[in-house]
Amino acid sequence: MKNDQSRKELAEAVYGDSAHSLLTFAPGPLHRFVTVDFTIVGCPPEKTEVLATLASLLHGTLPVFPDYPVCTECRNSENLCLLIEKDELCLGPLIQSGCNARCPAVSIVCEGCRGPVVEANVAAELALLLEKDFSKEEIMSRMRRFYPEWNNE
Ligand code: SF4
Ligand code: SF4
Repeated sequence: MKNDQSRKELAEAVYGDSAHSLLTFAPGPLHRFVTVDFTIVGCPPEKTEVLATLASLLHGTLPVFPDYPVCTECRNSENLCLLIEKDELCLGPLIQSGCNARCPAVSIVCEGCRGPVVEANVAAELALLLEKDFSKEEIMSRMRRFYPEWNNE
């Protein structure tokens, strides 16, 4: 939640004078810190994907999950597009599907909790949001919430 704030200032707010001796870094996906064999995305992950993974492992394989964005599921469900039709800051075009567009289905924008989809077209989404008069700061703050690698530095 604080990925858009200075880590140095955060450390000082919590640890005071001893903050300078601390190594602090932004939170991130597990695979950034240790080698993993397979990832089930989502916070929390979808029950169907956990079960599919367990079933596949029992058969000695790994599941294949869709590699398209939340928008695809959203449009398939014929939801109102919050980005295009209501000018709301929806991250659906950039985010890994699999949740069946749970949030847009109830008129809440996608916050990106499942992380970026492969080949996310960040430049196109950024251009569209800027065109809709969202500030770059607001856009980057939202994009960094679940994926600190998306930054403007
Ligand atoms: S509401 Fe969001 S997820 Fe749904 S189609 Fe529009 S941009 Fe994509
Ligand atoms: S925030 Fe986006 S990715 Fe997460 S459950 Fe909602 S629609 Fe799906």
